[in-house]
Amino acid sequence: MLAGPTAVGKGTVSADIRERYPEVWLSVSATTRPARPGEVDGVHYHFVTEDEFDTMVAQGDLLEWAVVHGRHRYGTPRRDVEVHLAAGVPSLLEIDLQGARQVRETMPTARFVFLAPPSWEELVRRLVGRGTEGEAERERRLATARVELAAEPEFDHVIVNDDVHGAADALIALMGLPAR
Ligand code: 5GP
Repeated sequence: MLAGPTAVGKGTVSADIRERYPEVWLSVSATTRPARPGEVDGVHYHFVTEDEFDTMVAQGDLLEWAVVHGRHRYGTPRRDVEVHLAAGVPSLLEIDLQGARQVRETMPTARFVFLAPPSWEELVRRLVGRGTEGEAERERRLATARVELAAEPEFDHVIVNDDVHGAADALIALMGLPAR
Protein backbone atom coordinates (compact mmCIF):
# COMPACT_ATOMS: atom_id res chain seq x y z
CA MET A 1 0.00 0.00 0.00
CA LEU A 2 1.67 3.18 -1.20
CA ALA A 3 0.58 6.65 -0.15
CA GLY A 4 2.17 10.08 -0.26
CA PRO A 5 1.43 13.69 -1.13
CA THR A 6 0.53 15.06 -4.54
CA ALA A 7 3.37 15.15 -7.10
CA VAL A 8 5.77 13.22 -4.85
CA GLY A 9 6.11 10.71 -7.70
CA LYS A 10 3.85 7.80 -6.73
CA GLY A 11 2.83 7.34 -10.36
CA THR A 12 6.43 7.54 -11.62
CA VAL A 13 7.68 5.04 -9.04
CA SER A 14 4.74 2.72 -9.84
CA ALA A 15 5.49 2.99 -13.57
CA ASP A 16 9.14 2.12 -12.92
CA ILE A 17 8.03 -0.97 -10.97
CA ARG A 18 5.56 -1.90 -13.71
CA GLU A 19 8.38 -1.79 -16.25
CA ARG A 20 11.07 -3.63 -14.29
CA TYR A 21 8.95 -6.00 -12.19
CA PRO A 22 6.07 -7.12 -14.41
CA GLU A 23 5.14 -9.78 -11.85
CA VAL A 24 3.91 -7.04 -9.49
CA TRP A 25 0.25 -6.20 -9.95
CA LEU A 26 -0.74 -2.54 -9.67
CA SER A 27 -4.33 -1.96 -8.65
CA VAL A 28 -6.24 0.25 -11.10
CA SER A 29 -8.48 2.64 -9.18
CA ALA A 30 -11.85 3.95 -10.24
CA THR A 31 -12.15 7.73 -10.31
CA THR A 32 -14.64 10.42 -11.23
CA ARG A 33 -11.75 12.73 -12.22
CA PRO A 34 -11.50 13.42 -15.95
CA ALA A 35 -8.56 11.77 -17.72
CA ARG A 36 -5.42 13.88 -18.25
CA PRO A 37 -3.86 13.88 -21.69
CA GLY A 38 -2.07 10.58 -22.18
CA GLU A 39 -4.01 8.72 -19.50
CA VAL A 40 -5.66 5.53 -20.72
CA ASP A 41 -8.95 4.18 -19.36
CA GLY A 42 -8.39 0.82 -17.68
CA VAL A 43 -4.62 1.38 -17.45
CA HIS A 44 -4.08 4.47 -15.30
CA TYR A 45 -7.60 4.56 -13.88
CA HIS A 46 -11.09 3.34 -14.63
CA PHE A 47 -12.65 6.69 -15.50
CA VAL A 48 -16.29 6.53 -14.40
CA THR A 49 -19.24 8.89 -14.09
CA GLU A 50 -20.64 10.05 -10.73
CA ASP A 51 -23.58 7.63 -11.23
CA GLU A 52 -21.29 4.71 -11.96
CA PHE A 53 -19.25 5.51 -8.86
CA ASP A 54 -22.46 5.70 -6.77
CA THR A 55 -23.40 2.23 -8.00
CA MET A 56 -19.97 0.82 -7.11
CA VAL A 57 -20.28 2.25 -3.60
CA ALA A 58 -23.86 0.99 -3.17
CA GLN A 59 -22.92 -2.51 -4.32
CA GLY A 60 -19.93 -2.67 -1.99
CA ASP A 61 -17.59 -3.05 -4.97
CA LEU A 62 -14.91 -0.81 -3.46
CA LEU A 63 -12.40 -1.91 -0.84
CA GLU A 64 -12.04 1.74 0.12
CA TRP A 65 -12.87 5.09 -1.41
CA ALA A 66 -12.42 8.76 -0.64
CA VAL A 67 -12.97 12.27 -1.93
CA VAL A 68 -9.42 13.40 -2.62
CA HIS A 69 -8.33 17.06 -2.68
CA GLY A 70 -11.94 17.95 -1.86
CA ARG A 71 -13.07 17.31 -5.41
CA HIS A 72 -13.18 13.93 -7.13
CA ARG A 73 -13.83 10.45 -5.79
CA TYR A 74 -11.26 7.66 -6.05
CA GLY A 75 -11.66 4.04 -4.96
CA THR A 76 -10.05 0.60 -5.15
CA PRO A 77 -12.10 -2.13 -6.84
CA ARG A 78 -12.41 -4.83 -4.18
CA ARG A 79 -12.70 -7.89 -6.42
CA ASP A 80 -9.45 -7.24 -8.32
CA VAL A 81 -7.53 -7.05 -5.04
CA GLU A 82 -9.12 -10.21 -3.67
CA VAL A 83 -8.38 -12.19 -6.84
CA HIS A 84 -4.71 -11.16 -6.95
CA LEU A 85 -4.09 -11.69 -3.24
CA ALA A 86 -5.78 -15.12 -3.37
CA ALA A 87 -3.44 -16.05 -6.24
CA GLY A 88 -0.41 -14.91 -4.21
CA VAL A 89 0.47 -12.12 -6.64
CA PRO A 90 2.55 -9.29 -5.09
CA SER A 91 0.14 -6.37 -5.19
CA LEU A 92 0.56 -2.63 -4.93
CA LEU A 93 -2.24 -0.21 -4.10
CA GLU A 94 -1.65 3.50 -4.60
CA ILE A 95 -4.13 5.39 -2.43
CA ASP A 96 -4.47 8.54 -0.38
CA LEU A 97 -4.27 8.89 3.41
CA GLN A 98 -8.03 8.48 3.97
CA GLY A 99 -8.03 5.29 1.89
CA ALA A 100 -4.95 4.00 3.74
CA ARG A 101 -6.74 4.46 7.05
CA GLN A 102 -9.73 2.47 5.75
CA VAL A 103 -7.53 -0.37 4.45
CA ARG A 104 -5.70 -0.38 7.79
CA GLU A 105 -9.03 -1.37 9.39
CA THR A 106 -10.02 -4.04 6.87
CA MET A 107 -6.62 -5.50 5.89
CA PRO A 108 -4.39 -5.36 8.96
CA THR A 109 -1.75 -7.54 7.29
CA ALA A 110 -1.11 -5.00 4.51
CA ARG A 111 2.15 -3.00 4.61
CA PHE A 112 1.76 0.77 4.65
CA VAL A 113 4.46 2.72 2.86
CA PHE A 114 4.70 6.50 2.70
CA LEU A 115 6.54 8.06 -0.22
CA ALA A 116 7.98 11.35 1.00
CA PRO A 117 9.52 14.26 -0.96
CA PRO A 118 13.15 15.26 -0.23
CA SER A 119 11.76 18.64 0.93
CA TRP A 120 8.63 20.79 0.81
CA GLU A 121 10.29 23.09 -1.76
CA GLU A 122 11.03 20.14 -4.02
CA LEU A 123 7.41 18.96 -3.77
CA VAL A 124 6.14 22.39 -4.85
CA ARG A 125 8.69 22.44 -7.67
CA ARG A 126 7.50 19.03 -8.95
CA LEU A 127 3.84 20.01 -8.78
CA VAL A 128 4.43 23.27 -10.68
CA GLY A 129 6.82 21.52 -13.07
CA ARG A 130 4.39 18.87 -14.24
CA GLY A 131 1.99 21.62 -15.24
CA THR A 132 -1.17 19.50 -15.17
CA GLU A 133 -3.05 21.66 -12.67
CA GLY A 134 -4.05 25.31 -12.59
CA GLU A 135 -3.22 27.62 -9.68
CA ALA A 136 -6.41 26.90 -7.67
CA GLU A 137 -6.06 23.12 -8.01
CA ARG A 138 -2.37 23.34 -7.03
CA GLU A 139 -3.29 25.25 -3.86
CA ARG A 140 -5.90 22.59 -3.01
CA ARG A 141 -3.37 19.82 -3.56
CA LEU A 142 -0.72 21.53 -1.45
CA ALA A 143 -3.22 21.97 1.40
CA THR A 144 -3.89 18.19 1.31
CA ALA A 145 -0.14 17.55 1.08
CA ARG A 146 0.47 19.36 4.40
CA VAL A 147 -2.08 17.09 6.10
CA GLU A 148 -0.61 13.97 4.49
CA LEU A 149 2.98 14.84 5.43
CA ALA A 150 1.91 15.29 9.05
CA ALA A 151 0.50 11.74 8.99
CA GLU A 152 3.83 10.17 8.00
CA PRO A 153 4.33 8.57 11.48
CA GLU A 154 1.18 6.46 10.93
CA PHE A 155 2.95 4.46 8.24
CA ASP A 156 5.03 1.31 8.66
CA HIS A 157 7.79 2.55 6.34
CA VAL A 158 8.91 5.84 4.79
CA ILE A 159 10.77 6.02 1.47
CA VAL A 160 12.18 9.38 0.40
CA ASN A 161 11.75 9.80 -3.34
CA ASP A 162 14.95 11.59 -4.32
CA ASP A 163 15.65 9.05 -7.06
CA VAL A 164 12.89 7.11 -8.84
CA HIS A 165 14.88 3.90 -9.37
CA GLY A 166 16.11 3.91 -5.78
CA ALA A 167 12.63 4.50 -4.39
CA ALA A 168 11.22 1.69 -6.57
CA ASP A 169 14.01 -0.65 -5.39
CA ALA A 170 13.28 0.20 -1.77
CA LEU A 171 9.60 -0.56 -2.28
CA ILE A 172 10.40 -3.84 -4.04
CA ALA A 173 12.64 -4.84 -1.12
CA LEU A 174 9.82 -4.10 1.34
CA MET A 175 7.56 -6.35 -0.72
CA GLY A 176 10.10 -9.13 -0.23
CA LEU A 177 11.05 -9.41 -3.89
CA PRO A 178 14.65 -9.83 -5.05
CA ALA A 179 16.46 -6.80 -6.52
CA ARG A 180 16.93 -6.76 -10.26
P1 5GP B 1 -4.37 12.11 -9.24
O1 5GP B 1 -5.62 12.91 -9.49
O2 5GP B 1 -3.16 12.98 -9.16
O3 5GP B 1 -4.21 10.95 -10.18
O4 5GP B 1 -4.52 11.42 -7.81
C1 5GP B 1 -4.85 12.20 -6.71
C2 5GP B 1 -4.72 11.38 -5.45
O5 5GP B 1 -5.68 10.33 -5.43
C3 5GP B 1 -3.37 10.72 -5.26
O6 5GP B 1 -2.76 11.28 -4.14
C4 5GP B 1 -3.68 9.25 -5.08
O7 5GP B 1 -2.95 8.69 -4.03
C5 5GP B 1 -5.14 9.23 -4.73
N1 5GP B 1 -5.77 8.00 -5.19
C6 5GP B 1 -5.61 7.39 -6.38
N2 5GP B 1 -6.32 6.26 -6.43
C7 5GP B 1 -6.94 6.14 -5.23
C8 5GP B 1 -7.83 5.17 -4.68
O8 5GP B 1 -8.19 4.16 -5.27
N3 5GP B 1 -8.27 5.41 -3.43
C9 5GP B 1 -7.91 6.50 -2.71
N4 5GP B 1 -8.40 6.64 -1.47
N5 5GP B 1 -7.08 7.44 -3.21
C10 5GP B 1 -6.60 7.25 -4.45
